[in-house]
Amino acid sequence: MVEPIVTVSGVRGIVGESLTPDIALKYARGFGTLLEGGTVVLGRDTRPSGPMIQSAALSGLLSTGCNVIDLDIVSTPTLQLAIKHWKAAGGCVITASHNPVEWNALKFFQPSGMYLDRNGVAGLNEVVRSGNFNQHQWDQLGEVLTDDSAVARHIERVLEHVNVDRIRSRKFHVAVDCVNGAACGITPVLLERLGCKATLLNAEPTGIFAHPPEPITENLSELCDLVRESNVDIGFAQDADVDRLAIVADGGKPLGEEMTLVLVTNHVLSKERGTVVTNLSTTTAVDAIAHKYGCVVERAPVGDANVSEKLRTSAGIIGGEGNGGVIFPKIQHARDAVTGMALLLDFMATQDEPMSEIVEQLPKPHIVKRSVRVEGLDIPELLAAFQKSFPCDNVRDDDGIRHDWDDHWIHIRASGTEPILRIIAESSSANDAAELCDTIISTLIKVE
Ligand code: MG
Repeated sequence: MVEPIVTVSGVRGIVGESLTPDIALKYARGFGTLLEGGTVVLGRDTRPSGPMIQSAALSGLLSTGCNVIDLDIVSTPTLQLAIKHWKAAGGCVITASHNPVEWNALKFFQPSGMYLDRNGVAGLNEVVRSGNFNQHQWDQLGEVLTDDSAVARHIERVLEHVNVDRIRSRKFHVAVDCVNGAACGITPVLLERLGCKATLLNAEPTGIFAHPPEPITENLSELCDLVRESNVDIGFAQDADVDRLAIVADGGKPLGEEMTLVLVTNHVLSKERGTVVTNLSTTTAVDAIAHKYGCVVERAPVGDANVSEKLRTSAGIIGGEGNGGVIFPKIQHARDAVTGMALLLDFMATQDEPMSEIVEQLPKPHIVKRSVRVEGLDIPELLAAFQKSFPCDNVRDDDGIRHDWDDHWIHIRASGTEPILRIIAESSSANDAAELCDTIISTLIKVE
């Protein structure tokens, strides 16, 4: 049997191959056993495999005596907030995020709403491996409860942190690509509350993605066309579980997912100074913004779990990842595209110029990301070869290898969610960064 990929980002696999009802059941039984009968908030994105995996997870949790608050289809950040609201012992969402439709995953959360950390995942793996699950009798099983207010609470929470009247007065015209994912249930509601005219793309919650659900530029041509043709103020694209956000500026130009955090960081720091936290693969344009406001940037390994934890321990005020993930700790330590959209509209409402002109005044990412399939390749060997071939004095090795020189940097790491090696480079131009990536790939991966 093909095993799922198990990391702090969840238990992830291809449905029917590396992710089956048996696997979902096992991990849910393991999670319920660890929680010893506490309450668990459960939900899913819109994927067609969602009901099957969620039902298996529900069964596993109930069998261990956990009560389950079932949110059904919600965004991941909505579920994370609900965990805290209900003072639950944990949470589980069924989503493979930006992965294609054939993938799904179980993601597990702590009572704080943050992802299970490495120790938590190790503990879960241990219980699953041992097969030593709590198994309650008929009169000690958990109960299923429902909560249909989680989306409304999430929106109210976000609105507390923006100037609603000022945004409403601008009557922004916003185009949104919901990718037929969980955004369908929350994004239009948020925009209506903010007085925006919303033109929606792919807003049927079918889970049949109209394009690959990762909000990267190559997947956003339909949104770019809509923004250009309909003369809208801004276009937003989210992934299937609404924790990543990409922007298309007026005129139809995609800004690239790295720019989301740059813009939000600029807005948050302009109002209040504090530490910024991002990951090792994110553009140094974030650092340029932070330095403008006299603030520091700390970097964590890639992944919401890692960045959120560093934000918490460093009491940072804004953070996230260059993949379009915005983490605003005043709401929660979680990537949240709903919060990201509200903060960006809040920023636009303070500006007289359109987004296409605003970005011209900000530092720009010159970052290139490549990936190489790694089946049959030895990752530690590749990382060692990289270190040898591209020597550097400024090295970080807590998430793959990152080498920093004065005017460029390279990060190579194994993906936590797919069997690929990621190569990320940033230099003074995108062309230089692309050349760096090409050189690394041709040096490390010998094509036969
Ligand atoms: Mg996601």
